[in-house]
Parts: sequence; C-alpha cells; structure tokens
Amino acid sequence: MKKIKAAFFDRDGTLIKDVNYLSSLKQIEIMPGIIDLLSNLQSQNYKLFVITNQSGVARGFFDESFVQKTHEFLTELFKSKNIFFEKFYYCPHHPDKSILKKYLIDCECRKPNIGLFLQAAKEFNIDLSESLMFGDKILDIQAGQKALCKSFYIQEILKTKDFEKGLVYE
Ligand SMILES: [Zn+2]
Repeated sequence: MKKIKAAFFDRDGTLIKDVNYLSSLKQIEIMPGIIDLLSNLQSQNYKLFVITNQSGVARGFFDESFVQKTHEFLTELFKSKNIFFEKFYYCPHHPDKSILKKYLIDCECRKPNIGLFLQAAKEFNIDLSESLMFGDKILDIQAGQKALCKSFYIQEILKTKDFEKGLVYE
C-alpha cells in the first residue's frame, strides 16, 4: 500500500495565536495567512495533522476534555474554510512542572520527542521522510527533523509566501 505524505502543524503560535495556555474557545484566533498555506498543501495532496504540547493539562490550567473540545472546535472551524485536518495529537504531560501525578512523566510524546509523529505514521501509513513540519518554536523544528520531516519556521514561510508560487519545500 502506498504511503501518504503529511504536513504536521504545531497548534499555538502556528495555526492559532498563542495566548499563553488557551483556556477558553473565545480566545481562538486563526493566524493570518495560514489558510492559504494549508489550502496549498492540501492541493499538493498533503494530509494535515496537528501535533501540540499541552502541558497546561499537567500544570492544572485545564483538563484533557477541554483540549479535546478545543480540537473538535478547531476541526469544524477549519472545515468551514475548506481545510480538513485528519487528526489532532497532543501531549498532556510535563516532566517536572506537573501538579498531577499521572501527567508527571518524561514522556516520548512531548516535542522535541517524536512519539506523536511515530503514532501518526503508524495510524495513517505516513512516509515521514516525504512529510513536512511547521512550527514557531525550536522544539517544533527539532522534533520535525528528528522525525525526518522537512521542517520550517512558520514565521519564515508566511513572510516569504513561497507557497503562493506552487511551493517546493527543499
Ligand atoms: Zn507526553
């Protein structure tokens, strides 16, 4: 079976504005320019995924059901703009700042670790070496590179607008 290629996105600061531990749906604001990029990637047959660290769960700022509710909301919000995400993956843990014992782990899923990339690759038959990662922080880039994806700072991509001219990410 032919493997698919994915475009992975960080969430806060990449797809939506970073409001420092989003805790209400009212705070959601899509980043300017991101829809055009997503649309361009879709037209090149990239399947879209989100991989996000949500240590706000471990820190006790909100619970996992809020994270899931947020991801259902975002799925629909992007759908209304003809952008279709396959799945949102998140890490609720933190290695030392967790106030809840079950989230106090040095896990494999928190970026820059690549547990969630590997999980996605397995679930959706993704060729990671043909895939892309977009994020706003060094840990996004480190994770993407470790997972063998071509990795980009979203700030740079949106600034250069390379995606408007058919974009080949090399
Ligand atoms: Zn984790």
